[in-house]
Amino acid sequence: MRFDDVLAITKQEANVDGEKVYIIDKENGDLDEIISKTIFMKDKNYTYTLLYNDLNFIRNHDNFTIIFRLVYKKYDGWLPCMVYYYNGVWQKVVLQYSYCTMCDWNGLIANPAEASLYDNISNRFEILKKINKFFFLCCPKCKSQLDSKAIWLENKTHTGNRPLYDMIQGQT
Ligand SMILES: [Zn+2]
Repeated sequence: MRFDDVLAITKQEANVDGEKVYIIDKENGDLDEIISKTIFMKDKNYTYTLLYNDLNFIRNHDNFTIIFRLVYKKYDGWLPCMVYYYNGVWQKVVLQYSYCTMCDWNGLIANPAEASLYDNISNRFEILKKINKFFFLCCPKCKSQLDSKAIWLENKTHTGNRPLYDMIQGQT
């Protein structure tokens, strides 16, 4: 995404992990308007597909929103990133599919410990160290460990092998 595309979606600045970012303010913005804008963005590519899915996710989930980070400075390349309100701050997360190591629970989680979320951040090792001390959620069914680090999870079991974004859109 180019900077102009980001500004077409939001002009609201924020600071996340010491980085200047742009954030979608769900309280004061019109999310439906943003979603319809995103569908019609002319250079539609994979990033916009992901963004569109993420927008539908935050519409249906409290305490989640999206920030835009300048990831490729040389090329004015901005990427959307999911954030979850946790410990009083916006915490960057990756939404991913996870499963229990002991029972049949599987579902969607928010993982803050994915290293790529902290690329280009000077004190990223400090940040990752701090994140690894977070309290991570256990399986909601049997309390065993999950295969990934979760600070949020979808408290239900999925059956079958549905792709991640099918599951998200299934909730609308
Ligand atoms: Zn379990």
